[in-house]
Amino acid sequence: KTVLISLELIDLAGVPCALLIANDITERKRLENEFISLVSHELRTPLTSTMGALDLLGSEQLGTLNEQGQKVLSIATTNTERLIRLVNDILDLERMKSGKIFTRKMKYNAADLLTTATEAMQAMADQLQVKLIINPVEVELWADPDRLLQTLTNLLSNAIKFSEPGDTVYISATLSESQGVEPKENEPLLPKYLLITIKDQGRGIPEDKLQIIFERFQQVDASDSRNKGGTGLGLAICRDIIQQHDGKIWVQSTLGEGSTFYVLLPLPVQ
Ligand code: ADP
Repeated sequence: KTVLISLELIDLAGVPCALLIANDITERKRLENEFISLVSHELRTPLTSTMGALDLLGSEQLGTLNEQGQKVLSIATTNTERLIRLVNDILDLERMKSGKIFTRKMKYNAADLLTTATEAMQAMADQLQVKLIINPVEVELWADPDRLLQTLTNLLSNAIKFSEPGDTVYISATLSESQGVEPKENEPLLPKYLLITIKDQGRGIPEDKLQIIFERFQQVDASDSRNKGGTGLGLAICRDIIQQHDGKIWVQSTLGEGSTFYVLLPLPVQ
């Protein structure tokens, strides 16, 4: 249930009174969500065809564009890509909330996952002259590789986006024996978790935003969406995916020095 609580001050026959109103807005929220996902869905087809038309214009099959034309095309392409990302992100979140996205879990090698994610982001890092350093670990996960890849590429893309040219982004993984729980006496020490770390030397995140950025549409700076091309939905999606793997995701950061995102995944019982 979603309940909206408001407080009103009223004058009751000359006596000032406080009126507490509780409003059940569960149905309104449900309709709002349904509306958002319907609109997003309807937007996807025309956007994809607009993108196709822009690609055709850029491919010079219809003639060569002059410099001004290429600039305009590049602006249209960047913004269309941004809209497609936004629509896809909203649809992803809605599906997860309504349980329509199922994870297809399988045995998957953690080192392969880290390498694939890093390779996918290499072009973006090269463009911004950010060095990517990877330190994988050999262990099998029980996971949906597509969804975990989506999480890691999202975290890497943020780390690269919020870094400066010349900075380094590190991605690594370590095995963890326990998560705050000490093993019992005589219990063999088995690695129970994989801890993936993505560390950057970028601008950092203020302390009061460390939790909030995992909520939908939350960004540290209102201009981040315009300047960095984001939607503010990426981390909300990452959190949902990691929760579906019974894992945890969190961040530590120092302003001006960089951020470290952690993803903790339980390993299958050996
Ligand atoms: P998006 O990147 O699409 O805006 P996210 O949900 O992925 O959305 O991130 C939300 C916000 O958190 C970003 O807009 C940014 O303000 C902040 N953020 C995320 N990752 C980092 C990072 N590595 N360094 C600094 N700020 C970050």
